[in-house]
Amino acid sequence: MVELKTDTSIDAMEAAGQIVGRALSAVRDAAEVGVSLLDLDEVARRVLREAGARSPFLGYRPSFAPTPFPAVICASVNDAIVHGVPNGYRLRDGDLVSIDCGAELDGWVGDSAISFVVGRPRAEDLRLIETAERALMAGIEAAVVGNRIGDIAHAVGSVCRAAGYGILDGFGGHGVGRRMHEDPPVPNEGRPGRGLPLRHGMVLAIEPMLIAGGTDGYHVSPDGWTLRTNDGSRAAHAEHTVAITKTGPRILTAPR
Ligand code: MG
Ligand code: MG
Repeated sequence: MVELKTDTSIDAMEAAGQIVGRALSAVRDAAEVGVSLLDLDEVARRVLREAGARSPFLGYRPSFAPTPFPAVICASVNDAIVHGVPNGYRLRDGDLVSIDCGAELDGWVGDSAISFVVGRPRAEDLRLIETAERALMAGIEAAVVGNRIGDIAHAVGSVCRAAGYGILDGFGGHGVGRRMHEDPPVPNEGRPGRGLPLRHGMVLAIEPMLIAGGTDGYHVSPDGWTLRTNDGSRAAHAEHTVAITKTGPRILTAPR
């Protein structure tokens, strides 16, 4: 069931979303060569704690997971696509890092992700990240009353495919509200004009997950969470929580 949020609830969700935006900015600022993924998790924990927010990631255990998630961010480096568990790995020059973070404030959740390069970037990594961001923006522009879920999916998928990248199969965006994962699913590829009609008050996480190498699939790391590409190619992730309103899409997790 898709829950429509009132304007007051959307304002409350934006307050949670702003904390996520701040946490991601702080993590990005702290991410330098030699800094560990556990250090980055600590940076995000501090932002959440100081804002009085709870982490919807910490202790999260969906059906596919063998253990509760142990951190407040997912940190996915290079061939890790999403769901990376922060560990003692220290960042190296040229690493492509994707950070996913959530915050819950007053019972409302925000969910967002960014990708960036530490140190000197490779041109192909910048192109991959830029394409993920462009796919996200295309999806957001399609998130308008009168469109359908398939229009968002088609917009996201078209940008990824036109650039020649693979799309992570079986994962995508979702409704957000009092829980991090609500209905409806928001796929990263689909047919325009199909699916649920978009209405004022729907709040969605839109999140393209791109793979540079394309089609060789992925596997789960021994930590039970981290998804890695089979061919070792790099991946990028971009996500915002977006409210659909009569006056257009409202990005709740973009730092103001
Ligand atoms: Mg997320
Ligand atoms: Mg999400």
